[in-house]
Amino acid sequence: MPIALRTLDDGAWISVNDSRQVSVSDVWTLSRGVFCDCEPAYVLLEGFFDADVDGRVVVTGAVGQCLECGTRDTIERLPVGRMVDGAFCPYDPECVQWGVEPDGERS
Ligand SMILES: [Zn+2]
Repeated sequence: MPIALRTLDDGAWISVNDSRQVSVSDVWTLSRGVFCDCEPAYVLLEGFFDADVDGRVVVTGAVGQCLECGTRDTIERLPVGRMVDGAFCPYDPECVQWGVEPDGERS
């Protein structure tokens, strides 16, 4: 079943199958090094772009700012949830969502 992914309201929401599922108002906890040097980094998202499905995982680009050090940057392919039996199951933004794989770093 194809999955309809869109960003709405200038990137304020990710819509999955015409239902608003993920909002930028959340603070996402990210592992050290993927966004800034904070451990962990609490990143307030400001906007989404390029939502996509990678296998069953819904990933999106996002612009965010670290609440600790003030770094403002773009996140590529942030996992925000996964598809289970055609339904979207969001990840918990308070859990550490995104880490750098040991040999997965690219410059
Ligand atoms: Zn930081």
